[in-house]
Formats: sequence, C-alpha cells, structure tokens
Amino acid sequence: MIKENLLNIKQSIPKNVTLVAVSKTKPVSDLQEAYNAGQRIFGENKIQEMVEKYDVLPKDIQWHMIGHLQSNKVKYMAHFVDLIHGVDKFSTLKEINKQAKKHNRVINCLLQAKIAKEDTKFGLSFSEIEHILDSSEIKALENIKIVGFMGMATFTENQNQLEDEFSSLKNFFNQQKLKTANASFKLETLSMGMSGDYQLAIENGGTMIRVGSSIFGSRNYPL
Ligand SMILES: *Cc1c(COP(=O)(O)O)cnc(C)c1O
Repeated sequence: MIKENLLNIKQSIPKNVTLVAVSKTKPVSDLQEAYNAGQRIFGENKIQEMVEKYDVLPKDIQWHMIGHLQSNKVKYMAHFVDLIHGVDKFSTLKEINKQAKKHNRVINCLLQAKIAKEDTKFGLSFSEIEHILDSSEIKALENIKIVGFMGMATFTENQNQLEDEFSSLKNFFNQQKLKTANASFKLETLSMGMSGDYQLAIENGGTMIRVGSSIFGSRNYPL
C-alpha cells in the first residue's frame, strides 16, 4: 500500500514540488518500504525518534525535522538533519548555528509562519519574520541557511479559509524573496500542505508538502 500511495501522490503533484514523507510514529519497516519505492525525504516531529530511525536506515535519506523545536535537543540531530521546518525563535537559530558549527555543517532552516486562526499552532507573525530577515545578527550565523518558510493552515474543511491562509503566506513569501534578493541567503522553499490540503497548498504556491497519513495510513493519535 505504501508504494501505491506514494506513486499516486507523486503522479498528482507537479515535478517541482518536493514531497516530504511524514513518518512520525511509524515503524522503521514502513520507512524502509517507502525507501524501496524511491522515497528519500522523510519528516519526523520528535528528535529522539528521528535519531533512532536515522541510525538504522540508509544514509542517503534526507531527514527533515517538522515538529516544534526544543533548543536543548538540537544537538542530537545536528550531525545529520537536512532541513528544519519549524524554527519560530531567533534564539533557536542561534542554537542551530552553534551545533551545526561543531560538525562543520550548514543546516537549512525554514521560519515557521503563523497562518492558522487557531491559537494552538506555533509560529512567527509576518512582521517578526521580516525583523529576523532584516537583522544584522542573522549575517553572523554562518552555519545556518534560511531557505524559506513553513506554514500550517487551520484544521478546517473550509476551502476558502484554507486558500486565504495559504495565499497570504505565498504573497508574503514572494514579497520577501524580492526584498532579500541580494542577501546571503536565498528564499526558495515554501513548505505548506499536509494530507488533507496539499492540493490546495500547491495551487496556492506551496513548493514542499508534508504528507503522512495519505502515505502511511492513519496514526493512532493525532500527533
Ligand atoms: C503530522 C504532520 C504532518 C502530516 O500530517 P498528515 O495529515 O498525516 O499528512 C505535516 N506537518 C506537520 C508539521 C506535522 O506535524
């Protein structure tokens, strides 16, 4: 099933959209099955779980951390994580930079924007993001690279609301892309869209989707 699900999704999205297979809570055997079907990018939301899977799976997998970050745990993944989606504090960027430096690496990061109307979701306001991108401090962080933004829409069936939330982030993204054209970093990734809303996210400018249950089946609890 995993293979078929992956192929179906890949067929239904444009080639320039990156599919992150969200494998949180799923056993290593499921990830191996997806790997055997050609998937190389996996997303996890808990650092310890990601480290355990990294240790036993093939080393050409790109690991994305999609969950909310605790700064004190960044060190456990700094030697291998490929992209961190959920950065919502400047202090976290500094910690990622510090840990990446120890391994002589540059870690790609997305700033998480708050687009949902719910107050349970983490994220920065657009003006807070702008402030970070404009700051001179950011230039001193040579071991991180901000490559774009991540957003999570409200958990709703309301298509108009989802479209509003996605397109507002896309507009902000395009505006910041222009504004930072000469910066040391390059905004190129807009991570938005999950199993229930990825088509809409892509129609509204998403370049990277994070899909879990539509590939691996439903999880026992909504993490
Ligand atoms: C779990 C999770 C996903 C995937 O959710 P599905 O609905 O199973 O596709 C995407 N993004 C984040 C941040 C998640 O935590």
